[in-house]
Amino acid sequence: MSEVQDYPWIIGFSGGKDSTVVAQAVFEALLQIPPSRRKRHVHLVSNDTQVESPLVMAHLIKVQAAIASMAESFRMPVTVVTTRPAPDKTFWALLIGKGYPSPNQTMRWCTDRLKILPTSRYILDNVSAHGAAIVVLGVRLDESDSRRNSINKFRNLAGSDLTPHSELPGAFIYRPIVHLTVDDVWEVLGRCQPPWGGTHRDLIQLYRDAEGGECPVVLSKDEAPGCGTSNSRFGCWTCTVVDKDKSIQGFIDVGNHHFKALVDFRDWLKEIRNKPEYRQVERRNGRTQFDLVTGKHIPGPFTIQARKMILDRLRETEEEFGGQLISKEEIDIIESTWADELVQKGE
Ligand code: SF4
Repeated sequence: MSEVQDYPWIIGFSGGKDSTVVAQAVFEALLQIPPSRRKRHVHLVSNDTQVESPLVMAHLIKVQAAIASMAESFRMPVTVVTTRPAPDKTFWALLIGKGYPSPNQTMRWCTDRLKILPTSRYILDNVSAHGAAIVVLGVRLDESDSRRNSINKFRNLAGSDLTPHSELPGAFIYRPIVHLTVDDVWEVLGRCQPPWGGTHRDLIQLYRDAEGGECPVVLSKDEAPGCGTSNSRFGCWTCTVVDKDKSIQGFIDVGNHHFKALVDFRDWLKEIRNKPEYRQVERRNGRTQFDLVTGKHIPGPFTIQARKMILDRLRETEEEFGGQLISKEEIDIIESTWADELVQKGE
């Protein structure tokens, strides 16, 4: 990379503690630069899987709005953006529409489609427009052993803090808080007010209620081994990869009783996954699949009847919860997927 460049910075912002510290550092730095010299465009990019934990999403939206308003007041070259999966690749379009079995550790089809692809698309668009982009991430060595291994696997460019992204050519990763410990992060949040106004009290409370943990911004499988593990308790509320959703349970324990409907639905979704009566014998391509080692039959997707049952139960859960859990657009896509599949099967 050339010495002087003004490639855009893309901050991966989940609204969690680590990315908040990074955003705070970047915006404080920007405020110290005279407006005429703020040449580099900064993008604050969050991803909405559309099955995010509702309290986490509400916090994220509030902070995004505060940051956008600060950027406007101070004439900062900042874009606040939320990426989302394509309408036919959402959790519900794939699970209820196409019958993908609820994700588990061996078949985790969701992370790529819901998290990695939408943000990668945004980064690559910026790389095409500007020749390169710098992706600023709040990842830290002491998060977990797998995080440490994934960070250490990649070598920085000589004399620079940038690491070429392993999967996105033209994107370079900058990890400004890589050496901070979790205590350092809490200390920054406890002591320093955010430059966009207010305090970090809501964020700290969110963690207290959820008993810690978060599902970070995920840009590649190497960058985010924590998604869908016991460390990632701010994941999707539908996450069937984890045994128990500790954050939602924490929210219920502090009085958000309506979240119980979400926990019950998630537990049920996990429970029905391997019931043979809900799974097709063949895969979507009409072939029967067997495990190459054990020779055992591998069941296909959920049957159309099971998908209808899941949609009905989701609608009931929506009523019980008192908020939208699936969009009209997703339901339309699901119904047309079923209709196409029935035509293909000649039913
Ligand atoms: S939190 Fe769970 S459901 Fe959501 S993308 Fe990660 S592994 Fe998949």
